[in-house]
Amino acid sequence: MKYRKLGKTNLEVSLVGFGASPLGAEFGPIDPAEGQRAVDAAIDYGINYFDVAPYYGRTLAETRLGEFLAGKRNQVVLATKVGRYDIGGFDFSAERVTASVDESLRRLRTDWIDIIQIHDIEYGDREQIIHETIPALQRLKQTGKVRFVGVTGYPLQQFVDIITHSDVDTILSYCRYDLLDTSLAEILTPIAKSEGVGLINASPLHMRALTNKGAPDWHPAPKRVLAASEQAAAFCRDQGVNLADVAMQFALASADVASTLVGMSKVRHVEMNVRATDMALPPELLLEVQRILEPVKNVIWKEGRPENDDPGAVEKQS
Ligand code: NAD
Repeated sequence: MKYRKLGKTNLEVSLVGFGASPLGAEFGPIDPAEGQRAVDAAIDYGINYFDVAPYYGRTLAETRLGEFLAGKRNQVVLATKVGRYDIGGFDFSAERVTASVDESLRRLRTDWIDIIQIHDIEYGDREQIIHETIPALQRLKQTGKVRFVGVTGYPLQQFVDIITHSDVDTILSYCRYDLLDTSLAEILTPIAKSEGVGLINASPLHMRALTNKGAPDWHPAPKRVLAASEQAAAFCRDQGVNLADVAMQFALASADVASTLVGMSKVRHVEMNVRATDMALPPELLLEVQRILEPVKNVIWKEGRPENDDPGAVEKQS
């Protein structure tokens, strides 16, 4: 496993990061024993970056991850979130996010969180995020409960504003640098690099759209995006290749993100995703997959408050 510095933090994170939302059954039920084995295997393969949130499985993912990391906490960089608690359940107030950190510490069975992130800031009021939420979390650094502060979300322009007007250590962006969308590289990477803000690229499989199993029912992407993804998966199968391998390899090739965060709850997926770090697929195959996906490239959906949408975003599942 290779490691990269996460922005100006002193953290070295693994190129492949462990996304723990599937541990909260976000993609369907999971076998907890297999989840434990997946976490153990990930650590054995050198994955040291783990991301979770109270929202995933409405606290289930944090509880399970805390259990699965027992005795191994010192070997990992642990990131969780505040502010989102249900589908429409957001509270970015200083009081709630401060209490939320204590609740996460208990569930995760730890005394400190390496990166505390504000979850899906596009659902919040930008002024509150900048003037209340971020400062409240920055103050918590002095208590030793958190080490670094980050933000997460889908639209990209909002992060440019956050970097310009506040003090954050990391940004987690999802579904914006993969085979279906590469806008992260144009919109956010240059300013994040120049300001020393660590970049985490989440959902390299576009929340399972870029796999043989295909997207879950709740997937927000427009139908034509999911149809093109299915076509790409079928093409890969015909070539004796797995689209997930192509997607992982594509995302991992970005030199500008510190860690690529993929959701896992099975040993088999851990092994596939680790293997993708040094797998050589024929370049013509990648070109053909990109040709299939070209008509839906960079098609984005509306997420959060309308004023926070990136230009050109379309209705979810349209
Ligand atoms: P993803 O693109 O990583 O896809 C995960 C799904 O693909 C799961 O169903 C998993 O079982 C399956 N999978 C994993 N490896 C596979 C493989 N090799 N072959 C076939 N299927 C495979 O989407 P994700 O889980 O949503 O994103 C990764 C992580 O990033 C999350 O778990 C979460 O920690 C984080 N994230 C954060 C935010 C946010 O903060 N707003 C949003 C999205 C994701």
